[in-house]
Amino acid sequence: MTERVVIDNAHIATVDADDTELPRGHVVVAGNRIESVGAGPAPEGLEGVTRHVDAAGRLLTPGLVNTHHHFYQWLTRGMAQDSNLFDWLTTLYPVWARIDEDMTYAAALGSLAALATSGVSCAVDHHYVFPRGAGDLFAAEVRAAAELGVRFAPARGSMDLGASDGGLPPDSAVESTDAALAATAEAVDRWHDPSPGSMLRVAVAPCSPFSVSTDLLREAAVLARDKGVRLHTHGSETVEEEAFCRERFGLGPTDYLESTGWLGDDVWMAHCVHMDDSDIAKFAATGTGVAHCPSSNARLAAGIARVPDLLAAGVPVGLGVDGTASNEAGELGTELRNAVLVNRLGPHREKALTVRGALRLATMGGARVIGRDGELGSVEPGKLADLALWDLSGFRHSSIADPVAALVLGAAAPLTLLLVDGRPVVEDGRLRTADEDRLARLTRAEARRLARLAGLTG
Ligand SMILES: [Zn+2]
Repeated sequence: MTERVVIDNAHIATVDADDTELPRGHVVVAGNRIESVGAGPAPEGLEGVTRHVDAAGRLLTPGLVNTHHHFYQWLTRGMAQDSNLFDWLTTLYPVWARIDEDMTYAAALGSLAALATSGVSCAVDHHYVFPRGAGDLFAAEVRAAAELGVRFAPARGSMDLGASDGGLPPDSAVESTDAALAATAEAVDRWHDPSPGSMLRVAVAPCSPFSVSTDLLREAAVLARDKGVRLHTHGSETVEEEAFCRERFGLGPTDYLESTGWLGDDVWMAHCVHMDDSDIAKFAATGTGVAHCPSSNARLAAGIARVPDLLAAGVPVGLGVDGTASNEAGELGTELRNAVLVNRLGPHREKALTVRGALRLATMGGARVIGRDGELGSVEPGKLADLALWDLSGFRHSSIADPVAALVLGAAAPLTLLLVDGRPVVEDGRLRTADEDRLARLTRAEARRLARLAGLTG
């Protein structure tokens, strides 16, 4: 018999096409899918109900989708505290070049734990540092995501443009072009699951225009389309990147990426801060998506992405925390607020982004950006049961009448329940699938080991 979970009495923000909200609604989950959503209590006499949640004082939203991250950076948080992107990267590349499989596993657990406890049910990770002889780093993060039970979209990154070829990373941190392509193809063949309801979809993700050769960009795009997987990279993050592309290629980042086959509705790029009207029009015309990372852009003084203009043009936009070396909190829940605040500092001021617009970016927006809006991103019958039930009954939120405003504008809200594929991953604010104290010890030990190996401590 199909097992059912019934949630009653919740304020439901469905994030459907009409932004329907149900002030006292119910959701019935059957197996790993949403069976019904509606106003008032759930129908009586349902069979196979294993759990009945009274969600009074709670807000039910779709599970959040994090569209950009670098899990391994969990071990290098709090470093290069006052640097812009290029200085920050050149400080950290030599440290990252010492990571190994055990470190990557621990860092992935830490990153995923911070994501899940902030409402994320589906997470992208862009991993692009593969030191020789360091073990199977990609498998390590796949293992971590499976253990925690978070839906996963690992993007097999790569860098092949070392400093001796005019790139930004040191030669010790890059792979050869052929090795990067072969390992990327292998990762797709081994791990990518294209089936409906998939818990793991792999993307192809050379790192950035200043760390990857033109050949690798071109060949990676061909590879991804041959395998039927998506493409991800960084684009137009800083003025320094723009200057690098103009000097080396005679083109801005968007035109350069276009020349290598990197615009399309199977592509999404992180940041896209320094875009002119022509760049935005190209993204809109091709359906290329954007992972907006407001905290990281602020931390690295990158600038403010033109999210209102991107949305007005019809560009798909999701939210990302980015790697935790440039966003130490690693939480997506609070990134909704930061998206509202940062965008209101731009030219559109108070009209830049609404509270509900921020929730949409983090749910349907993200699902569309990673190509899964048919299955994820809204609370609707038939969709996968990835649901976040936020507890707004405590003193931090209870005096805010609008629950969506309480979530987006208020303090980081605890979760009563996070379901992923119908299974509980977070309950009453704590991870159910891992021991948080053990995780704290493990990640601290691995961060210290990395610091020692990189010569940062004795
Ligand atoms: Zn990034």
